[in-house]
Amino acid sequence: MKILLLDDDPFVLKLLGRQLANLGLTDVVSHEQPHQALALLEEDIAGIDLVFCDLQMPLMDGVEFVRHLARIGYGGGLVLISGEDNRVLHTVQKLARGHSLDVYGFLRKPVSPELLRSLLNAAFARTARAPRVPPKVYAPAELQRAIAGGELVNFYQPKVDVLSGELAGVETLVRWQHPQDGLVFPDQFIATAEQHGLIDRLTLAVLTDALAQARRWRDSGVDLHVAVNVSMDNLAALEFPDIVVQAVLAAKVPLTSLVLEVTESRLMKDPLASLEILTRLRLKHIGLSIDDFGTGHSSLVQLRDIPFHELKVDRGFVHGAGKDSSLRAIFEASLGMAQQLGMKTVAEGVEDLDDWHFLRTSSCDLAQGYFIGRPMPAADLPAWMAEWEERRGALVAVCP
Ligand code: C2E
Ligand code: MG
Ligand code: MG
Repeated sequence: MKILLLDDDPFVLKLLGRQLANLGLTDVVSHEQPHQALALLEEDIAGIDLVFCDLQMPLMDGVEFVRHLARIGYGGGLVLISGEDNRVLHTVQKLARGHSLDVYGFLRKPVSPELLRSLLNAAFARTARAPRVPPKVYAPAELQRAIAGGELVNFYQPKVDVLSGELAGVETLVRWQHPQDGLVFPDQFIATAEQHGLIDRLTLAVLTDALAQARRWRDSGVDLHVAVNVSMDNLAALEFPDIVVQAVLAAKVPLTSLVLEVTESRLMKDPLASLEILTRLRLKHIGLSIDDFGTGHSSLVQLRDIPFHELKVDRGFVHGAGKDSSLRAIFEASLGMAQQLGMKTVAEGVEDLDDWHFLRTSSCDLAQGYFIGRPMPAADLPAWMAEWEERRGALVAVCP
C-alpha cells in the first residue's frame, strides 16, 4: 500500500509518518504543497492507494484539493485530517463522497494512534469484503414478469415499544427472489417500477401478501400493526383508497391494523390528488406514516398538509445520535414537532446497543433497526420473538 500525506505543517507530516510506520505502513511520501501532490498523482494516478489530506492549507484548501482529486479520476482511499470542528469535517466528507471518492473517514488533530488504527482497520475490512461492482439494472419487462409470476416476497422487520420492549408491529419490505441473481433488494427495482408504470401492480401484490400474513398472525393470536411502503406514484390514482380498503376487508383484518408509509421519493405530480387520497385513507382509519423524515424528501410542508399519524425519523439522525450533538439536536427537534402534532414517533436504524440506550433516554415511542431485528421472512418471526423475549428483559430493566 502506497500512501501520500499532504499537510502544510512538516511536524504533522513527520508525526503521521511515524504513526503509520508503527502500523506497518512504511511506503509513504509526504508533501507540504498541494500542487506538488497533485502533480505526483497526475503522473501516475494508480500509483497511490491512500491519501491523507489536511483541510487548512494556505495555497489550496482541502475542499479544492478534493475537487481536483475527483477531476483527475483518483480511485484510491482518502482520509481527511483537520483541527476544524466535526461539522466541517462531516461536510467535507460528504462533499468528497458526492464526488464518488472512497472516503475512509476523518481524523481530528492531533491524530490519536488508536483512532487511526481503527479507521484503517474498518476501511481495509470494508474494501476487502465489498468489491465495487455497479448494481445491475433490470429491464421493466423482466420486472413485470416477476410481479405477475409471484417472484416478489415480503420480508418483515419488527418495530418495538421503546419503554416496554414489546413487539408493536412490523414493516413490510419487499424483495425479489430472482431465479438467477438470488435475493434482490428494493433499491434495485422500485425506481424502475415507478418509472415504467408498474408500481401500482407491485404495491397491490405486496399489500395483498402482507394482509394475508396479518390475517395468519391474528389467527395465531399475534395482533400486529402491519406497515406497507407506498410510492408517491400510488397516490396519483383517485381509486387508490378504495382498492386498499377492499384489500383490507377481503383479508378480514381491521382497517386500523394497516399503516401506509409514505416517502416523497419523486415529485408529487398532482399534490391535490395526493392530498385527497391520503385524507380519505385517514378517514377510513388507516394509519399514515411519514417515512425517512428529515431527508428532504419528507418535508415540513408534508407534515403541515397531510394528516399523518406517525413520523419515522430517518436512520441518518438515529444511528450514532448518542455521540453526535448535531444528530441529537435534529432527532429531538423532530420528536418534539411530531409530539406537538399528536403523532407517534418511530426511530429507524437502531443499529447497536448505544443507539438503543440513547433512545431509552428520549421520548421516542417505537424503535426499528438491525439491533432489534433484521427484515426476515414471515416464517422466521416466531423464532425472533422467542429470542427477543430473552433479550428484552435486560434491555428495558434499567430506567434511563
Ligand atoms: P424504508 O421504508 O425507509 O425501509 C427501511 C430500510 O432500512 C430497509 O431497507 C431496511 O432493511 C433498512 N434497515 C432497517 N434497519 C436498519 C438498520 O438498523 N441499519 C441500516 N443501515 N438499515 C436498516 P430495504 O429493505 O433495502 O428497503 C429500502 C427502501 O425501499 C425502503 O426504505 C422503502 O423506501 C423501499 N421499499 C421497500 N419495500 C417497498 C415496497 O413494497 N414498496 C415501495 N414503494 N417501496 C419499498
Ligand atoms: Mg418504510
Ligand atoms: Mg425509512
